[in-house]
Amino acid sequence: MMDKIIDCHMHFSAKGIFDKTAENIGLKCTLEEVKHQFEQNNIVLGIGMGVDKCEDNIYNNPQIIYHGEERFPSFLVQCLGINALAINRENLKDTLECFKAKLEENTTVGLKIYTGYQPYLATDRKYRYFYKLAQKYDVPVVFHMGDTANSMGKLKYSHPLILDEVAVDFPKVKFVIAHCGTPWIADAVEVVAKNKNVYMDLSGLMEGNFKAKKQIKEFKPYLDVFRTWFNYLHDYQKLMYGSDWPLVDMKEYIKVIQSIIPKKAYDDVFYYNALKVFDRLPEYLKKQEKNL
Ligand SMILES: [Zn+2]
Repeated sequence: MMDKIIDCHMHFSAKGIFDKTAENIGLKCTLEEVKHQFEQNNIVLGIGMGVDKCEDNIYNNPQIIYHGEERFPSFLVQCLGINALAINRENLKDTLECFKAKLEENTTVGLKIYTGYQPYLATDRKYRYFYKLAQKYDVPVVFHMGDTANSMGKLKYSHPLILDEVAVDFPKVKFVIAHCGTPWIADAVEVVAKNKNVYMDLSGLMEGNFKAKKQIKEFKPYLDVFRTWFNYLHDYQKLMYGSDWPLVDMKEYIKVIQSIIPKKAYDDVFYYNALKVFDRLPEYLKKQEKNL
């Protein structure tokens, strides 16, 4: 078993939107369950992608993790979701102010953009305001990239090649391609290989209720594609573990990811790289330790 893990990309909402997904893997989407799963798998922290409405803001931004507790659970932090569809010329200024207020909280560690689910390219003017914000607050921007979970998504927006332009235009901001841009893995890896400021998370490469051993065998040709392109990249400092929970069982997914990463890179991919990309994590973890 791994020493300690940071899950860079997961989901949680106390509003019930992931209940059905969690049911698929035989679990409930509750904080208690997340805590239990974390303890079972030595996961010290999860970075949740905000999808819930923020009650503080009438403009439906930023999207946050609604946890339903008085205080943010110590084992979770969040990336604020940007709902670009809700942003217009009139509310832009107020919206940015709301993001700034939330960025002041130490439980905010990044921004999340839902390209593909929202019909704007990563180069869109709307997003550029947020890249400047990310630079100011020293947080990375995570993009949904690759296949979309439903057929309403529009794929041209979630192709990872577009991030090359963003990475060049904002060299001081760190960007994360979620899901390795699957199935455009070669394109995603090339953007990561070429740009110092672009990283990749390994969440969502597969989903559902599976046993790792069987899955690794059955999907060998697919998993070989990752092995091949990671070998091309030859830089395991650029990859971070993420699960996309509750889409998969944490224990089984960890094993699948271990099968596509060389053993000597485990510590970096499963833990240390996240501390470098999400600049606020080292301090947060220090505090978390003190409170225990
Ligand atoms: Zn996700």
